Amino acid sequence: MDFNVQADTQEISVFRKEVREWLQENMRGAEGLRWSATWSTRENEEEYQFRRKLARKLGEKGWLFPMFPVEYGGAGLTIDHQLVLETELDHYGINLAAVFYTLARIVAPVILKWGAEEQKREFLPPMLRGEVSVWQVLTEPQGGSDIATCRTKAIRNGDHYVVNGQKIMVGYHHPPDFLWTLVCTDPSGPRHENLGWLYIPGNSAGITIQPMSLMMGIKNSVFFDNVRVPAFNLVGGENNGWRVANTHLELEHGGEGRVGADPLVERVVEYCQQMRVAGTPLMEDTSIRDIIADMLIELHVVHHFARRNFWHRYVREPHPYGGAQFRYYQRMVRLRNGERLQRIMGYDALVPDLTVNEVVDFEYVVRSGPGMLHGGGTLDTDRLVFARRVGLGRPTKEKAPTTI
Ligand SMILES: Cc1cc2nc3c(=O)[nH]c(=O)nc-3n(C[C@H](O)[C@H](O)[C@H](O)COP(=O)(O)OP(=O)(O)OC[C@H]3O[C@@H](n4cnc5c(N)ncnc54)[C@H](O)[C@@H]3O)c2cc1C
Repeated sequence: MDFNVQADTQEISVFRKEVREWLQENMRGAEGLRWSATWSTRENEEEYQFRRKLARKLGEKGWLFPMFPVEYGGAGLTIDHQLVLETELDHYGINLAAVFYTLARIVAPVILKWGAEEQKREFLPPMLRGEVSVWQVLTEPQGGSDIATCRTKAIRNGDHYVVNGQKIMVGYHHPPDFLWTLVCTDPSGPRHENLGWLYIPGNSAGITIQPMSLMMGIKNSVFFDNVRVPAFNLVGGENNGWRVANTHLELEHGGEGRVGADPLVERVVEYCQQMRVAGTPLMEDTSIRDIIADMLIELHVVHHFARRNFWHRYVREPHPYGGAQFRYYQRMVRLRNGERLQRIMGYDALVPDLTVNEVVDFEYVVRSGPGMLHGGGTLDTDRLVFARRVGLGRPTKEKAPTTI
């Protein structure tokens, strides 16, 4: 599992050249743009349109989901090709999985694994071509960690399900084309045997979306009021939703992995080289250098965990506890980095800087750290999964599900 030292094979170096040239051509016009972060509201129309167009162009070539089968809109390529695409795009500060605001990166693999053939042919191509925005819709007001308590009901009525209930803390500031929604398909059924997943068109009658302006950006409440959804859109089978959820959650809880590194520390170094206190650059201060060293070390560990998980995922050998380990560590590092930034630069760390990409905006790092501890499950969920996977206090170790 060596991502850096090994030279490209002949085939891969030809592909890298092709990708580089393609990006040079297609990233033209982005020079003046500064990417906003996932739940941000700072992005403007120009940035949004650029990102949507870029996703479509990548999607047309199958490059948004390079390893997915061609018949569903992927490119049928290998993990080496995917690594090339991820690393080359990363030079532009964009992550292949999040070119624009959609959670297709999690939803598409779940549908690929659990969908019937006709569902894959219908649902996957628009997602893989970057044409639709998909939200994941799991959390409910009574609790997010214990999603098996799902109370949003979907009751079969002829060739439709009728959905009623409420979700919370979902989505982005742009409206969704589809809601990938966990529902209760059998309200009187036993726990874990009463769930299902519906791929619900966002414009269905009876859906109300209410934005919530939070410290880190916009999330939404979604209300379902007698929403009729074709039975065809139930993925993975009625009352089988818990097994589908396991695949979904493994990806969301760190199992999907990531290739790009967090560029924060480079910007901190730059800042400390330029910023002077009493005529001396901050970088000369040994206590500040110590803080930066801690950041650097921890971010390297995060990077290696993320790459390791990426590799395990794509060779279809899920790391037993790698997802939860990565998620827990990454989020704690982010929180610690927010505190470190304040120690290094004081109030400067609380002032937004629109001239940089938001992920390296110190103010955003400070502001988003606490919220990130809950997004996609809390730290306690990470600890719980970790403990189960290594068999703490249990006679057996829980296995990680395979994803795609
Ligand atoms: C930025 C952000 C983005 C999000 N995006 C989405 C999204 O796109 N889609 C979506 O569906 N949801 C989303 N969520 C919701 C998120 O998944 C939930 O917040 C999360 O699952 C926790 O649920 P909760 O907030 O209801 O907390 P609760 O589950 O009510 O937990 C409350 C507290 O109890 C602790 N706790 C709970 N259970 C246990 C246990 N068994 N053992 C020990 N401690 C426990 C928790 O750690 C926490 O401290 C997002 C949240 C945030 C903050």
